[in-house]
Amino acid sequence: MTAADLSARAAASVRDVPDFPRPGIVFKDITPLLQDAALFRECIEGMAAPWRSERVTHVAGIESRGFILSAPIAITLGAGFIPIRKAGKLPYATQGRDYALEYGTDRLEMHVDACPPPARVLLVDDVLATGGTAAAACALIEQVGGRTVGCAFLLRLGFLHGDQRLAGYPIQSLIEA
Ligand code: AMP
Repeated sequence: MTAADLSARAAASVRDVPDFPRPGIVFKDITPLLQDAALFRECIEGMAAPWRSERVTHVAGIESRGFILSAPIAITLGAGFIPIRKAGKLPYATQGRDYALEYGTDRLEMHVDACPPPARVLLVDDVLATGGTAAAACALIEQVGGRTVGCAFLLRLGFLHGDQRLAGYPIQSLIEA
């Protein structure tokens, strides 16, 4: 199967849920894709493939849907897994990064010893929307000593131009919407 075939099958298995979690948002629900054993596996392999020659040492996933994809991608690439979590969730000493939301701010945290140099970290999340979350995560990886080699998303909402917030980082996404 070609990459285009996989992308089309994956796109067909992402469900649009209008007005969730707020009026005006079309939520990209990936649960139909995850519950299809063959498709889930192919998507993990498809998301991992572009990074095979990048000597990735760690895959960092953003809480919480990012964890579902990042852990199997880490195994596929022979890399370790690092959680990036919302404020107050990690048990050990952390560093954090605040970032702007549509209304207010949020904060991401990592363990201080998650990826010391010379770690080469791939950032993974389910959806790239405005890019604020991923940009904060990339900065945080570097704050704790890692090098972000790129960002992998299952789905990119192209009309929000999140890639502009990630200038300088290679980006791959299986589905363009
Ligand atoms: P952003 O910071 O705007 O790029 O938003 C990215 C984060 O919000 C990711 O962790 C996504 O899981 C989530 N997200 C944003 N928009 C959507 C959407 N339309 N459907 C599902 N998740 C979304």
